[in-house]
Amino acid sequence: MKVLLVFDFDNTIIDDNSDTWIVQCAPNKELPMELQDSYQKGFWTEFMGRVFKYLGDEGVKEDEMRRAVTSMPFTSGMIELLNFLRMNKDKFDCIIISDSNSVFIDWVLEAADFHDVFDNVFTNPAAFDNNGLLTVKNCHAHSCNSCPKNLCKSAVLLDFVDKQLQKGVRYARIVYIGDGGNDVCPVTFLRKNDVAMPRKGYTLHRTLAKMSQNFEPMESSVVVWSSGVEIISHLRFLIKE
Ligand SMILES: [Mg+2]
Ligand SMILES: [Zn+2]
Repeated sequence: MKVLLVFDFDNTIIDDNSDTWIVQCAPNKELPMELQDSYQKGFWTEFMGRVFKYLGDEGVKEDEMRRAVTSMPFTSGMIELLNFLRMNKDKFDCIIISDSNSVFIDWVLEAADFHDVFDNVFTNPAAFDNNGLLTVKNCHAHSCNSCPKNLCKSAVLLDFVDKQLQKGVRYARIVYIGDGGNDVCPVTFLRKNDVAMPRKGYTLHRTLAKMSQNFEPMESSVVVWSSGVEIISHLRFLIKE
């Protein structure tokens, strides 16, 4: 049985947030105040739609956005980790579940030639329209009360695992690698053999630490990481077990 690796994208695979990084394409590298202030909690995709509309109206072209996005640094040790996974694809299935968008993730994976490492990418679908505007839609609809309207990562994960089961694919365990607040929901759904891998010092790590102080039980084990190289050592240990 293979191990299923679930990756977040922003601040996990890449060492920044693609949605805030893209602002450097704006005139003076900042958004007008009224646009900045237009964000409503839980409606990030709509907000990014307005940001992309603004960039398009300011004459920022696809090429320029692609150059900006593909210049984002990978998180320390991530290139090593993805190369390790490519060499061990017989033992690991890998998916990305991200609140970024399909265009940004495609650009990054293509530029670094890592498309083949991932079996599936679940994110907000995006595309350039006929006027050269980047448009983005919600990833899916769901009924989870803890997550933003456009994406509940545990709903995506459960759905994926279910579909794989129907195809006869069972996983020995799930390893979840992430950093953010929207990784809390899927991590609390992990079971006994699974491993939650929060990035050290980031929101997911701080939230899990608080939960354990409050004696809120987690079924999965928790392994903190700062570099992809540490993730490699833990995966080596898991596949030896
Ligand atoms: Mg993240
Ligand atoms: Zn949720």
